[in-house]
Amino acid sequence: ASVRQKYVKDKKLGEGTYAVVYLGHMKADFSSLVAIKKIKVNAEYRDGLSMDAIREVKYLQELSHPNVIALHDVFSSKDRNLNLVLEFLPLGDLEMLIKDENIQYGVADIKAWMGMLVRGTWFCHENFVLHRDIKPNNLLIAADGEVKLADFGLARSFADPYLNMTHQVITRWYRPPELLFGARHYSTVVDVWSMGMVFAELLLRVPFVAGSSDMDQIAKISEAFGTPTEENWPGVTKLPNYVPPGDRVNPLQGRDFFLRQFPTAGPVGADLLMSMTTLDPRKRSTAREILGHNWWKSDPKPTSKEALPRKS
Ligand code: ADP
Repeated sequence: ASVRQKYVKDKKLGEGTYAVVYLGHMKADFSSLVAIKKIKVNAEYRDGLSMDAIREVKYLQELSHPNVIALHDVFSSKDRNLNLVLEFLPLGDLEMLIKDENIQYGVADIKAWMGMLVRGTWFCHENFVLHRDIKPNNLLIAADGEVKLADFGLARSFADPYLNMTHQVITRWYRPPELLFGARHYSTVVDVWSMGMVFAELLLRVPFVAGSSDMDQIAKISEAFGTPTEENWPGVTKLPNYVPPGDRVNPLQGRDFFLRQFPTAGPVGADLLMSMTTLDPRKRSTAREILGHNWWKSDPKPTSKEALPRKS
């Protein structure tokens, strides 16, 4: 039988910007729950979607790690949309937890969530996969509390950009400065910047740098961390979308700033956040370097995943 016939869609779980997600199960086994994500494929791609696109997405099927959502299968449905058969993750996402005022959490919980996020991202990078869209809403939570990196940009890049634009504006708040400046050659540390923004948001419970346009995002990043200049970031002024800062040049922020902004992180946590949000991508820490940081070993110890706060 074809892959398409292996699964049954049960009910709609939700609808996002470019996909509809269903709860499903394997035909042969009612206890095998899966999430089937049907990507609304852009008409332009429909005919070409066949092999190349599927092959790329299928690469994700080989990534197996506790902190990366499992992709069990890929198939194209009768209407020629791309269907991803994913691990079913019933406990929502980190954005829901951050926004839920009835949920209290502390730095030990943040350390546990961040640890899972960094390990999943490190694993992707070791396997030459960039995520490119790390944000709290893409960090889904399994029944046992494990956080899993979901929603890889690769699949999404086939979606129709004009569909449902009002539903959710593509998030720029987690985007690193090199991408905002239009860099064409970028590296794994784009994901590290985004993880830094998630870290800051977990600490503050509001997005740290929430620009209303790409220009405003750059302005707010400059206000928060310092203005990118040739001195602190050699080559920045040559990037395609670089805009000179005008008359206000803010100096690069140091350790004391991070500690003042994020007192709950403590000095070691503030140092980690600073290394994740370094403007110059060449000086920014890699996921591997972050895993070696002292913060993970310093007190408090991360909460065990079973004991983490969860949605009611
Ligand atoms: P969005 O990015 O707006 O959350 P998605 O298309 O990713 O949109 O998901 C739509 C809905 O389906 C969301 O409510 C999400 O929580 C849910 N969902 C997505 N993937 C899974 C999954 N693997 N397991 C359970 N629910 C999921």
